[in-house]
Order: sequence, then structure tokens, then C-alpha cells
Amino acid sequence: MAVTALSHLTDPAACPRLVLKVGSALLVERGGGARREWIAALVAEIAAARARGQQVVVVSSGAIALGAARLGLERGGRGNLADAQAAAAVGQIALAGLWADLLAAEGLVAAQLLLTLDDLEDRRRYLNASSTLARLLEAGAVPVVNENDSVATAEIRFGDNDRLAARVAQAAGADAVVLLSDIDGLFDRDPADPAAELVREVAGVDETVRAMATGGSGSGMGSGGMVSKLEAAEIAGRAGIALAIVNGNHAGPLGRAVERDTGTLFLPQRRDGGRKVWLGGRIAPVGVLTVDAGCADALATGSSLLAAGVLQVDGDFVRGDLVTIHSAKGDRLAQGLAEYSAAECRTIAGRSSAEHADLLGYSPRAAVVHRDHMVLL
Ligand code: GLU
Repeated sequence: MAVTALSHLTDPAACPRLVLKVGSALLVERGGGARREWIAALVAEIAAARARGQQVVVVSSGAIALGAARLGLERGGRGNLADAQAAAAVGQIALAGLWADLLAAEGLVAAQLLLTLDDLEDRRRYLNASSTLARLLEAGAVPVVNENDSVATAEIRFGDNDRLAARVAQAAGADAVVLLSDIDGLFDRDPADPAAELVREVAGVDETVRAMATGGSGSGMGSGGMVSKLEAAEIAGRAGIALAIVNGNHAGPLGRAVERDTGTLFLPQRRDGGRKVWLGGRIAPVGVLTVDAGCADALATGSSLLAAGVLQVDGDFVRGDLVTIHSAKGDRLAQGLAEYSAAECRTIAGRSSAEHADLLGYSPRAAVVHRDHMVLL
């Protein structure tokens, strides 16, 4: 059974495993103190979910905001990377203590996982995180996950917990992700416009849906805005996971969203196998292969990417690295693992398979990106 309605979020049959992402603005007051009562009310909802038979993973922001206040850093600790990392180090320990205390008050055991982007991009480390999450949930704990902001550097960060939550949902084999936000959901235009209407259901994020998202975080406290939420919805959707954006500005936001049926639900799009789920959720490609129209059509029908259709090779990558495949117009068509290095790709781009052995000086591989190692976007 899949999650196809907001009411399913509290239904253990449709949603046995749920990821709940809580943004900084909900956890931390403007002055930098923790919103203890609000968190306690959310923890009561988590306890109720557990009592119904649902397993819950929390993805919690708030480390930078909490730490910045304690260190007296300007711009909420987000002025530069060094400040953010120092703030996160101070804030994370407070944040973990807060979750552990409040969960314990409901008789629940908190577990902390601090992940970097690389932990989930690398297949072996992703599997490790996945089995740790599975074991914790089985043992009855509530994993509380955040990005390991104090060590992640600019080039290798998620930077927002929306996409992290979608990736964690994949690793945890969750049925749905709920992004608690400071807004009711996705609006069809700038929510400040009085004519703006809440979009209740989205079956696939396309250009029309993307055009509805405006700018960054409304609160200025977190880094995720609607754009990162849509990216999270795409990552989740490709893995057969539903994603809901609901308003967290109320005590007990999950129950409220379900009762009032208010929020945006992104329906799961397809159910790939485990390895393709991981591949389709990877977010740090190191190269781009631009292909011609004939090749784009062939990819859409499930073929491997052959060198003959490659128009251009960008980036510097080695065999096995993640590359995205773009149409000549620049649309992202697919992503997958390159069978060749960037230099080898440039050598054989646009050339037929019969010529490859001579061009390369050794026997060629079957494809530039094999369909078994490729996911359509
Ligand atoms: N990981 C960051 C924190 O704990 C928040 C990232 C975000 O704003 O989404 O402060």
C-alpha cells in the first residue's frame, strides 16, 4: 500500500515508516532559544505514531541557529562557512540533548546520526547508514539525523535538510517524508499574492510545478526553501516514497495537517530496485554528457547511452563516477555511472562503436553509460 493521501501519513498500514523533517525556524526562537514546548508537542505525536505501530525517523535542523545564539555569532551563524561549522558544533550537542530529553519523557530512546553528503553518495557507506537505521528502528529507537555540518565542507554539503531527509528516507526504506515548514505547502504562485492557492497534490515535479517555487527560506533561519523541497520531492518520488509539505507553525502539526487535510502531497512516482533508488537519489554528479535527439529518444525507451549520440563532454571524471545526461536543449534526462573517463568519452564522442577500438587503442566497453547503471530523471 502506498501513501496517496495526507490521511495515510498517520495510517500504519499505508505508512509503516515515516521520516519527519523539522526546520530550524520551528525549533529555534528568533532569540536563539529552543522552542521546547513545541518540540514536546511534536514528540507526543511521535510517541502516538509509535503506539499506532509506525516507525519514525526525525531529520532535525537547528544546530546552526542554536549554536550561533550561544556563541553570539552574527547572521545566525550563516555569515561564512567557519561560523556555520563552529555554530553547528555548539548547537548540535544542545539539539541532541533536547531530543534525547523530550523523547525520554515519552518513554522513547533517541539515537543520533550525523551524516555528510558523501556518506550517502558512496554506495558502501549508504548501505552502512541504511543498516544502522534499520537496526535502530527494529530495536525501538527514534533516530534523529542531521547533516554533520561541523566537518562537511562547502563542496560536499547537502546544505539543506530537505534533500537530506529524502535521502535518509531512501536509506531507511521509508514510505513517506513529511517536511514541516513555516508555510501550508506549495502555492501556485508567490504565497504573498492574495490570489495564491495551495496546491494539494502533485503527481510528478515538472516545469509547471518548478515555476511555482519562489526563492529561499522564508524564515531566513534555515537554508531550505521551496526549491530544495521540490528537489527532495523528486528524489523521494523516484524511490516510490511520498513527500508531504505541511505547516509546522502549530502544536501537533502532523495530526492537524491530517485532520484538516491541509498540505501538499507529492505522490510516489515509481518503485525502482534498491540500487537504482540509491543511484537516482545521488545529487553530486561530476560530469555532464550532452546527447543528440535520437540518443535522447533511445534513453527514454530504456537503452544504454552509446558514444555515437554524445555531442559534448563536460567535467573531469573517471570510470565509475556519477554523470548527468542532458539533451541538446540542456534538459536533465538521466544520471548514471560513466563506463569511461572524461578523456576517453571525448575521444569516442560522436563516433560509431566500430571505430572505438582504433580510437582508444584497446577493446571498448559496451556503452558510455550502461542502462543497468542509469536512472531516468
Ligand atoms: N543542518 C543545518 C542545521 O542543523 C540546517 C540545514 C537546513 O537549514 O536545512 O542547522
